Amino acid sequence: MPAEFPDFRLGNVLATSFTATLTERHGDAVERIPTPQRLVDWLAVNGLAVDSCTTAQLELARELRESIHVAATATAIHDALPASAVQVINDCSIQGRAAAVLTPERNRRWRLSSASCVEDALGVIAADAIGIIAGERDGRLALCASPTCRAAFFDTSQSRTRKWCDMNTCGNRQKKARFNANQRKNPRSAK
Ligand SMILES: [Zn+2]
Repeated sequence: MPAEFPDFRLGNVLATSFTATLTERHGDAVERIPTPQRLVDWLAVNGLAVDSCTTAQLELARELRESIHVAATATAIHDALPASAVQVINDCSIQGRAAAVLTPERNRRWRLSSASCVEDALGVIAADAIGIIAGERDGRLALCASPTCRAAFFDTSQSRTRKWCDMNTCGNRQKKARFNANQRKNPRSAK
């Protein structure tokens, strides 16, 4: 695996983990699925293994990703859903033919109709996005407080007051910035 590809951001919500394959949308954007093989890798990590992906399938995946991002953002700010984003999400959901399969260990697995069917995997992601945008799951869509990020994330905290898409990146950076600002204002008290 070439080391120069950016890492994946792993979350526990499929749809927003997927939208997080593009980060810093309002800054220096980082594309985390720059090649079809990286989409194959991402799908494998997320329980949707396929054995190949074409450039056209990668393009479709990115179109779905940005449509989910737009629809999730509109939901977070209580705006109307853009019709074009809804159309792409629905088309992907309808096209997918993945089946949920129960394992003896009581886990759910996804069985795709064929190992090269990226569209099936995208259908699962689209259905997951529909679930959270429709408000079916316990949580709230919110936007990351980082001005260069503004990623939509699914807040499942008790208080529903999570501010960052990811504590280890955006949250940490903000904490450091605040610390540095305090230190400049009050150099003796901040050690
Ligand atoms: Zn963020």
